[in-house]
Amino acid sequence: MNAFEYATALSTDSARSLVSDQGMYLAGGNDLLGLLKDYLVPSPKILVNIKSLPGMDAIQPGDKSWTIGALVTVAQLEHNDAIQKTFPGIHDAAAEIASLQIRNVATVGGNLAQHSRCWYFRHRDTVCLKKGGDLCYARHGENRYHSLFTGNTCISPVVSSLATTFAALDATVVVLRNGVETPMTVAELYHRAWENPLAHNSLNPGDLILRVEIPTTRPRSAYMQVSDKHAFDWALVSCAAAADISGGVLRSPRVALGSISPAPYQVQAANDFLEGKTLDDAAASAAAGMILKDAQPLESNGYKVPMAHALIRRTLMKLKG
Ligand SMILES: Cc1cc2nc3c(=O)[nH]c(=O)nc-3n(C[C@H](O)[C@H](O)[C@H](O)COP(=O)(O)OP(=O)(O)OC[C@H]3O[C@@H](n4cnc5c(N)ncnc54)[C@H](O)[C@@H]3O)c2cc1C
Ligand code: SF4
Repeated sequence: MNAFEYATALSTDSARSLVSDQGMYLAGGNDLLGLLKDYLVPSPKILVNIKSLPGMDAIQPGDKSWTIGALVTVAQLEHNDAIQKTFPGIHDAAAEIASLQIRNVATVGGNLAQHSRCWYFRHRDTVCLKKGGDLCYARHGENRYHSLFTGNTCISPVVSSLATTFAALDATVVVLRNGVETPMTVAELYHRAWENPLAHNSLNPGDLILRVEIPTTRPRSAYMQVSDKHAFDWALVSCAAAADISGGVLRSPRVALGSISPAPYQVQAANDFLEGKTLDDAAASAAAGMILKDAQPLESNGYKVPMAHALIRRTLMKLKG
């Protein structure tokens, strides 16, 4: 590994000026240290430890929205009783992530910004599109873990479980960009990955995720995933749903899928279809059909279509409580 400087930032301003254009932020280190050790990303000139930034490790309840700091750990989300009561979809997503040891150090910001898990990308000798090469090896190779939808030639899906559940809850991710707090929807946070094979999210060098704001307008939420292994594994497909339900009728419903597209996958027509519907198996099944209508399975990932269909149905039905 190339030599690099290491510094601990004590304010967001100093973090930004230390990281400059050629540094990287270090939070829990679960993803970043592996990427550096395997030479999968260019060596930074400086690693800026952001774990001491003040005020970014708290969960703050509010009437209209809750704030989750970017340094809140996944374990904090999992073990916070108020989160479990108010946003069960966040609790369930957090509890499924990796292992207890990883959840104890993995942060919300790092989880959202984690890199591709594509095994060609993760192989240090393979220079695919995402590393600036000419080919997507997965497209005509081993693509069982890859996307059903993409807006570009890379088929590596976003695997952040928190992104899936935040998308369904219509969360806003607040990013410090050029000294200005810039709110982004989850769709905006990943839009660049949708359209550009070189990107895995829309962050620019030096952008710092500060917090996530979750509106309280959807008191029902749920998250489910299917993985090869019960623990210590990413999802093959994940699904999050959120809504208000009054008199058995859905209000402001949202469904998001993870691990099947470079951005959490949402279909507005399905949300519109569910609006005002009584939540039952027929409505959930019809919404699943709408969401998956344009799926483009490849040679080895076609199993994800029926899996996603079942997950959407079950996750929506979980909203009934
Ligand atoms: C075996 C295993 C299974 C896993 N399973 C899952 C799973 O099922 N679901 C899931 O979602 N994740 C899963 N993970 C991934 C894990 O959750 C992430 O690696 C972890 O959340 C990254 O957080 P971190 O704080 O360690 O980030 P780091 O490794 O410190 O950083 C990751 C990236 O984010 C950037 N970054 C960190 N914080 C910020 C910030 N505030 N602003 C801007 N950029 C920032 C860093 O520069 C780096 O590029 C798994 C990991 C392992 C090893
Ligand atoms: S899916 Fe993306 S990351 Fe994987 S080989 Fe293709 S271009 Fe590379």
